[in-house]
Amino acid sequence: MAAVAAPRPAQPSISCVVPAFNEAGNIGPLFDALLPALAALTPRYEVIVVDDGSRDATAQAVAARAVVPGVRLLRLSRNFGKEAALTAGIDHASGDVVLLMDADLQHPPDMIAPMLDAWRQGADMVTTARASRSDEAWRKRLGTAFFYWLVNSGSRTPIPQDAGDFRLMDRRVADALRALPERNRFMKGLYAWVGFRTVVLPYTPAPRHSGKTSFSLKSLSSLAATGITGFTNAPLRLWVKLGGGIALAALAFAAWIVVEHFINGHDVPGWATLVVGMAFSLGVQLLGIGILGEYIGRIFDEVKQRPVYIVGEALGQGLTTGPHVA
Ligand code: UDP
Ligand code: MG
Repeated sequence: MAAVAAPRPAQPSISCVVPAFNEAGNIGPLFDALLPALAALTPRYEVIVVDDGSRDATAQAVAARAVVPGVRLLRLSRNFGKEAALTAGIDHASGDVVLLMDADLQHPPDMIAPMLDAWRQGADMVTTARASRSDEAWRKRLGTAFFYWLVNSGSRTPIPQDAGDFRLMDRRVADALRALPERNRFMKGLYAWVGFRTVVLPYTPAPRHSGKTSFSLKSLSSLAATGITGFTNAPLRLWVKLGGGIALAALAFAAWIVVEHFINGHDVPGWATLVVGMAFSLGVQLLGIGILGEYIGRIFDEVKQRPVYIVGEALGQGLTTGPHVA
């Protein structure tokens, strides 16, 4: 899709959304790096820190900064998870472009200028992809590769593997994301689903400034389950093939037993075959029911229609006022 609309303003208003969970040690250095970087690009910007139920002094650290225009704090009523925090930030952002960024300074603020350039040149979504994953353990890389293979199998909107949440989007994309009603939010999938003209810029993530990652193997697996159930029916379809295959194999085996009995005259031995067969089919059935349950659980979440997040407290004013230079 080549852009056919009017040229983009050189200095759009920018909303920077920062989800933060127990990031007290990072808020100060983040603002020190981020605010000058934004101010150099446009006179109208805002940083919305979404405090995702932190148990440390994250909110206090942001509140101390919210005295300057352009710094906003949204405090969720509890920890809802990063996907919900991002959703909250996007819902409250009013800029011409919305930038998503982690609070731990892993996403370098000097990438914002090239990202904005790509937007000026017509990209609606500018994503960044980590140049290398060699810093990750092989188990995590293997898990990631399997997840993307599964979630993208048969998908018309494949989710790129290395593109993370550090991205800049046009207002139209933010509005499209806001219009998606689903509760089980796998943001990377939603970004891909809404489409628009996307440009990918490579970057090298910095090490976390302070604190430690909130994503354990368990929380990553649960995020993966949200992604899979939200974006592919492949695990459901698998059971048709597997069930069919096992049934055919059982029929063939039955025929073989008959042949064995009448032609060779052998007795039918084999409680071992019986036990293995029963245990195997029981395992397969339980696995199938488990996968069905995973999907039904998500359906249950959707029909309850609970909000994705609850804002407990909001502080600070919106966009800095300045001449809007087109
Ligand atoms: N985060 C959040 N809610 C959570 C977990 C994480 O808002 O429940 C935020 C966190 O504060 C950070 C970003 O999401 O700004 C990425 O988290 P983290 O650095 O722990 O993940 P990693 O970089 O290891 O993927
Ligand atoms: Mg991080």
